[in-house]
Amino acid sequence: MGALPKRKISKARKGRRRSHNALTSPAMSVCPKCGKPKRPHFKCEYCGHYGSFKRESTDTKANTSEKKVSTAQATKKAKAVEKK
Ligand SMILES: [Zn+2]
Repeated sequence: MGALPKRKISKARKGRRRSHNALTSPAMSVCPKCGKPKRPHFKCEYCGHYGSFKRESTDTKANTSEKKVSTAQATKKAKAVEKK
């Protein structure tokens, strides 16, 4: 047998611990070039502009957006499992 908790964690204590676990939506601003929503201080995922500059990098738009979505979903799933 492994180590076991000495006492039951009460609902109130569990709630207090989890009071900081809520996920927040990422901050969004509007691209001045195409008007689509974008993350502040990041290049636009749709038109690739940052301010008045066009930024082209090795990572494609689909690649970066997919990665961000998958990690966000993974953390959400982990939190959901933890709460059960
Ligand atoms: Zn744009």
